[in-house]
Amino acid sequence: MTMLDAVVVGKGPAALACAAALGERGLAAALLGPAGAVHWPATYGVWADELANAGCPPLLEDSWATAVVHAGREHRLRRTYGRVDNARMAAWLGDRCAFGGVREIEGQAAGIERGASSTTVLLHGGGRVEARVVVDATGHRPALLPRPEHPAPAFQTALGWTVEADEHPFAANEAVLMDWRDGHLAPAERGGVPTFLYAYPLRDGRLFVEETALAARPALPLDRLEDRLRRRMQAMGVRVRRVAAREEVWIPMGGALPRRDARVVGFGAAGGFVHAATGYSLVRSLAAAPALAYAVSAALGARNATPERAVAAAWDAIWPAGRRRRTALSRFGMEQLLAMDGDAAREFFDAFFALPDADWRGYLGDRMTAREVSGVMARLFTRAPRSTRRRLARGALGPDGRHLAASLLRATAGRE
Ligand SMILES: Cc1cc2nc3c(=O)[nH]c(=O)nc-3n(C[C@H](O)[C@H](O)[C@H](O)COP(=O)(O)OP(=O)(O)OC[C@H]3O[C@@H](n4cnc5c(N)ncnc54)[C@H](O)[C@@H]3O)c2cc1C
Repeated sequence: MTMLDAVVVGKGPAALACAAALGERGLAAALLGPAGAVHWPATYGVWADELANAGCPPLLEDSWATAVVHAGREHRLRRTYGRVDNARMAAWLGDRCAFGGVREIEGQAAGIERGASSTTVLLHGGGRVEARVVVDATGHRPALLPRPEHPAPAFQTALGWTVEADEHPFAANEAVLMDWRDGHLAPAERGGVPTFLYAYPLRDGRLFVEETALAARPALPLDRLEDRLRRRMQAMGVRVRRVAAREEVWIPMGGALPRRDARVVGFGAAGGFVHAATGYSLVRSLAAAPALAYAVSAALGARNATPERAVAAAWDAIWPAGRRRRTALSRFGMEQLLAMDGDAAREFFDAFFALPDADWRGYLGDRMTAREVSGVMARLFTRAPRSTRRRLARGALGPDGRHLAASLLRATAGRE
């Protein structure tokens, strides 16, 4: 076999997006993942405009013109939210891989071996795959890429049901992005980690309902979330006939970025793409793949090409200083949420979604600059009620603020 330019490890959306972009750049690329057809069991929610901005066709199986937030007041966000059609997105990316000549290799990566001009992925059971660059896109527990332990991640956990219901209060054209109401909980629970309902009616008449702990450290256990979901459904008058499917969500958020001097590039959830305000990473993976492919192609074409230089070039393409600064800001925002109970979270999100549309859209998305994110934070601070302002000020003056300042300086100096 001729030497591969790149091997992408994984078979999730990030791996396919990355391999497709590498193939389209004319590189000899391969996808290394488990045997069998591509299968993505998670329900992926996206803003329709962000999917389009990432260069993806509208591959949605359902969409809702309005997203609703209950946080003290009700906020009706006029922005189309959709649920990705996983099979069609996988087919679209798979076709692009095939068109770009991406080879498919079955196997489970167990480790790497470093050579002077290439890196070899060692497989469980004895196989080897050698390439000039290795991309680890193996998800939240990366198979090959060591992630620094500090700062420690927080965890988003959620428990979702697809249900058949005889009665429910959800409107056909609306998705409930966040319902922070907690009148059905005991007082002691209301003082603990707050959770919200994420829910929408499906085209086939069923409902998708999910109880989510946005970020917690340690993670809120799934059985606690399921118990809260059951009680919330009762309190809302949802008469569940049958739970047809169950989804468990566990997403580390806001941890350290992968190191620039590693032998492997991290991409997707493995590469620290998870947004610290939402837990999302799908759109970022789609949007970042062409930049990574361009950088790898240029680095491998250089006369002094080495695996290290190619990895560093890819890292610089997906983690420019501005993006590292804004990631540090989002991480600071997440740390502030960790200290909030239900009342505080409602007050915070009520102020957040009362900001101008461009502010909350930009903060939850991936395209704002660090300066713009700082502007959103400043506006939120000035407009929020006094108790939220006091809480945020305490955060900024405490260890979180010092950590943020250090991260911003490191990102600016290129030492993150
Ligand atoms: C249930 C759930 C719901 C989510 N909902 C959303 C959402 O609504 N919107 C959003 O943007 N994000 C969401 N996320 C977060 C994130 O976008 C997803 O986790 C997404 O699947 C990450 O994509 P990925 O390709 O990076 O990793 P994954 O989808 O986790 O894919 C990793 C791939 O690597 C393969 N792999 C693992 N180990 C090895 C190995 N050793 N060798 C070879 N292959 C290996 C796996 O088989 C898998 O194919 C959700 C996450 C979960 C868990």
